[in-house]
Amino acid sequence: MEKMIINQNLSKSDSLKMKYYVNGEWRTSEKVSELHSPYTNEIIAYIPQATREEVEQAIDVAYNTRGQMAKLTAYERAAILEQIAQLFKENRVKAAEIISLEAAKPMKFSLGEIDRTIETYKFAAEEAKRLTGEIIPMDAAKNGANRFGYTIEEPLGVIGAITPFNFPQNLVAHKVGPAIAAGNTIVLKPASQTPLSALFLAELLDQTDLPKGAFNVVTGSGGTVGDALVESNKVKMITFTGSPAVGIGIRNKAGLKKVALELGSNAGVIIDKGVDLTKIVPKCVTGAFSNQGQVCISLQRTYVMDELFDAFIEKFETETKKLVVGSPLEETTDISAMIQPKEQERALSWIEEAVEYGARIVTGGTVENGVLMPTILTDVPSNAKVSCQEVFAPIVVVSRISSIEEGIRAINDSNYGLQAGIFTNNIQTAFKASKLFEVGGVMINDIPTYRVDQMPYGGVKESGTGKEGLKYAIHEMTETKLIVWNQNEE
Ligand code: NAP
Repeated sequence: MEKMIINQNLSKSDSLKMKYYVNGEWRTSEKVSELHSPYTNEIIAYIPQATREEVEQAIDVAYNTRGQMAKLTAYERAAILEQIAQLFKENRVKAAEIISLEAAKPMKFSLGEIDRTIETYKFAAEEAKRLTGEIIPMDAAKNGANRFGYTIEEPLGVIGAITPFNFPQNLVAHKVGPAIAAGNTIVLKPASQTPLSALFLAELLDQTDLPKGAFNVVTGSGGTVGDALVESNKVKMITFTGSPAVGIGIRNKAGLKKVALELGSNAGVIIDKGVDLTKIVPKCVTGAFSNQGQVCISLQRTYVMDELFDAFIEKFETETKKLVVGSPLEETTDISAMIQPKEQERALSWIEEAVEYGARIVTGGTVENGVLMPTILTDVPSNAKVSCQEVFAPIVVVSRISSIEEGIRAINDSNYGLQAGIFTNNIQTAFKASKLFEVGGVMINDIPTYRVDQMPYGGVKESGTGKEGLKYAIHEMTETKLIVWNQNEE
């Protein structure tokens, strides 16, 4: 990176001026915008706002590099991905500090994100070596005799990647890793609140053997940079992670290009009778409040069987009150500021609406030193926004159920379907839930927030289309080509 923003001693605004990265060069734009720390509101950088023409230049660079990238062997692509993983290991703390600074993610979670990012690139390196097609049994068809058929997975060319603020390094890795593993080139548009992590990645990638022009980061608004990527004929696939509203807009504009959409959710869990709350409640606290609840599979709705409801609420409140609220740069902090003041105001207004509908605040619901306190609500009707929409804030709803069927119906009564969980000691109940939950992933005896990076991950309904997880994303980022040999035998 031309100028390192993380250095607290830098005081001149010049030292905070960032550049974007195209063709291995650092470039400026005429227009820049201020980037503020969500926690202190200080200016932490000035970010170039690329014009449509500048985005098109980056797309041209990626387009012209696609042949060179496609020629790399699996060995070479895997080696580059291993180099990235190694550079993240060497820069672990610095990369985590950048996340904490620009996203207000508490350091313990930022370090966790970098550890996952390292794993993601390592999985990508391993999968690059396993990218194969399959042999087709041509003679299984009446007219298939004497043919030998097989498929190969070819790179698509240019991938346009659009990423959200909440995991600014690992969710970028979920696009850059598979794109390189498959032999594609990339133009990345990071979220406007978290461009520094993407620019830091560019700084690291610049030190690898990746051909210049294969990876480009363009900063600027979703409207300008995003639209230019989505509308370009040279971009063969858009891989998007973000809100359903923006994702649906992208799908409508993308024409025939491939589109993978990883969107939001209001994830739920069922807690059956007879389970051990001392183990489960700390998991629920983590699921509900990590990264201030700004996680696409954050635990938002908790359905507890009648018998355990009161004990659950009591323990949940006690454990939640132990969370340490403060600066994201302190390693002891559990909860810090939300990404934007306007997001915090929205969350507060949703709590107010729920209370007007008859909800009871068990804990939280207030702002202290600029931080929305972790909030537990109960007696919330299902049509309150905190229940039926994606809350994306440190807010969790706990509801009483009198049967597992009621819990399953409640979980499925949602426009979303990313992941769901159930804690139960009853194997039949677990099977039933795994079959009936209308989601992309079911966690038995875990919170819906559980994710490791190689597993297939993606939602149904308004939670999106397409799967991430390295093997699955690589497949999405290739075109399957069929080859059939006629052996001309009588
Ligand atoms: P967002 O507002 O939808 O933004 C996501 C990205 O889209 C940003 O880079 C944004 O740029 C860009 N964008 C905005 N308008 C655009 C347009 N018209 N065309 C193209 N791109 C555009 O989402 P967010 O607030 O950053 O992230 C939170 C959302 O992401 C939540 O809904 C969450 O559930 C979801 N999410 C899903 C997953 C998953 O894997 N399923 C993971 C994480 C997050 P600007 O920042 O410049 O506006």
